[in-house]
Amino acid sequence: MGDALLQKTYTIDFLNKKRGKNNGVLPQYYIEDDHEAIIPKDIYMKVQEEIARRSSERDKNGIRRGFSANNPFSQIITCECCGAQYRRIHWYNHGKTSIVWRCKTRMEDKTVCNSRTIHEELLQQAFVDALNEMIENSDGYLSHLKENLKTAINLCNPQSAEALAARMNQLQQELLDRTESRQNYDDLVEEILLLREQQEQTNMDEAAKAEHRDRIQALCNFINSQPRTITKFDGTLVRKLLKDVKVCDVFIEFRFKSGTSVIIEK
Ligand SMILES: [Zn+2]
Repeated sequence: MGDALLQKTYTIDFLNKKRGKNNGVLPQYYIEDDHEAIIPKDIYMKVQEEIARRSSERDKNGIRRGFSANNPFSQIITCECCGAQYRRIHWYNHGKTSIVWRCKTRMEDKTVCNSRTIHEELLQQAFVDALNEMIENSDGYLSHLKENLKTAINLCNPQSAEALAARMNQLQQELLDRTESRQNYDDLVEEILLLREQQEQTNMDEAAKAEHRDRIQALCNFINSQPRTITKFDGTLVRKLLKDVKVCDVFIEFRFKSGTSVIIEK
């Protein structure tokens, strides 16, 4: 978004003839967007994560699978025994079809890994149990999460980022004033580009920390928003809150994006 924004300030120069077309659009961007909108690194990083996830999703012939067909648990379940990923398979057994999850190694050679097969209903129920475990013991989990949140906040250095943002706002306002009065603004663009680079450096770290804080906050909010136990499985909660799952012989470990981990004996 930051790129598109600056691109517009360039094009306006060579597009003097088309200036009418750009009128109104350009100032609007500059008025409304603060530095978060110029470099929304947190969003950018989430998008990158999602792109990586989508492109790595391939079937056994190496053909990329449609993302819409993906299950929320795809790619995040690992076998504690051999470290391979669990795959979702349609299992035909005694004329009955069921959906199960199986270790990839186990599917290929059960002498190498003999980890268990998990029925999808059991997996979903275990996830619901993990959420309920947190809701029912919310005091303990929340205080733990609050500690995590505090640490995450302390890691931040908001001052430098704020100073850069303030200067960016100032420059943008000036840029707006100059475009409106049709003055030359090349020097401003230079400084904005330089500043943007600095912000990018700072914000890369800031964004990673902010994202971590967001994740902890998301789980806190979720726990706080649940007045009673959950009874139904909701895949969107998997995507939103869960980082990965480990399958062991006697339990399933749900590791949440916030860093919290819940073990369900199933
Ligand atoms: Zn395995």
